[in-house]
Amino acid sequence: MKRVFSGVKPTGHLTLGNYLGAMRRWSTVDQHEADALFCVVDLHALTVDHDPGRVQRLSRQAATLLLAAGLDPELCTVFVQSHVDEHARLSYLLECVATDGEMRRMIQYKEKAAAERARGGSVRLSLLTYPVLMAADILAYGTDEVPVGDDQSQHVELTRDLAVRFNQRYGRTFVVPRTTHPGVAARVMNLLDPTSKMGKSDDVGPGIVYLLDEPDVVRKKVMRAVTDSGRDVAYDREGRPGVSNLLEILAACEGGDPEELAGAYDSYGSLKKDTADAVVELLRPVQERHKELCADSAYVEGVLRAGAEKAREMARPRVDSAYRAIGL
Ligand code: ADP
Repeated sequence: MKRVFSGVKPTGHLTLGNYLGAMRRWSTVDQHEADALFCVVDLHALTVDHDPGRVQRLSRQAATLLLAAGLDPELCTVFVQSHVDEHARLSYLLECVATDGEMRRMIQYKEKAAAERARGGSVRLSLLTYPVLMAADILAYGTDEVPVGDDQSQHVELTRDLAVRFNQRYGRTFVVPRTTHPGVAARVMNLLDPTSKMGKSDDVGPGIVYLLDEPDVVRKKVMRAVTDSGRDVAYDREGRPGVSNLLEILAACEGGDPEELAGAYDSYGSLKKDTADAVVELLRPVQERHKELCADSAYVEGVLRAGAEKAREMARPRVDSAYRAIGL
């Protein structure tokens, strides 16, 4: 059975982008077809200015939402990254294989470092090395497939390079993984700025739909989404990013094709209304289950404890053999 690994960072509240770009596929496809591990990657949340208590709360919330989104601990392994030492252990070895130049070429690093500097802050070294830790997350488990949104492609590409380089230098140790993306909504855009990704942010973003937004909040956000200067509804991601984003979200919710959907609408208003309704319906069962799980925190804790134990057992032999192969 193929091995699948993926994760979410507890740097903010999970968004519709996280769900459509990654989590939905994890619960509907991956956990059924693969030996799958899903991880709240909390070490990655320390790469930017953070509040310790908030990281802990967001980690717990992200884990609860993964279960609410349908991940079933009977079918897959759900755990928190920092509960399994193997990730950090392997990361250091991979830092000895990666180069400073390839780290500095990572687009996310360039963007986040520039934003940090613009705020007058300093850039943490871990922001630069974060893709190496991500490579360790993936390679520790002999992962075949990494189901992620579009924004993570470059990091998975780096992971492949590091696996190949390590294997060539020190003997075959790692499986070289490949990425899988959803067909539609691989990159959900911000509703108020459709040229930038709908990402988690530290503050509540009016252009971001969060998985726990109440129905009326979702409706308000979608109805206020910026559309483009044209009047007709057309699917063109480059020229008409606002309308195309709504069409993709609607298509992803309803299982249709954004280009075909465009033909069914002659006004922005009705497209927005249908998109808002579809998102509300999509989130309803996740929110209901989340509420139930919040009332049973012992269950969530038990799942995470058992998940970490299982993950540790899976990762340790490969990480141990990487230590031996590299000469330790
Ligand atoms: P974020 O960028 O929101 O902090 P994470 O790094 O935690 O997201 O990513 C979790 C998963 O969600 C990854 O697979 C990522 O590719 C996916 N993802 C994040 N934002 C989006 C988006 N706007 N559209 C599609 N997928 C996304």
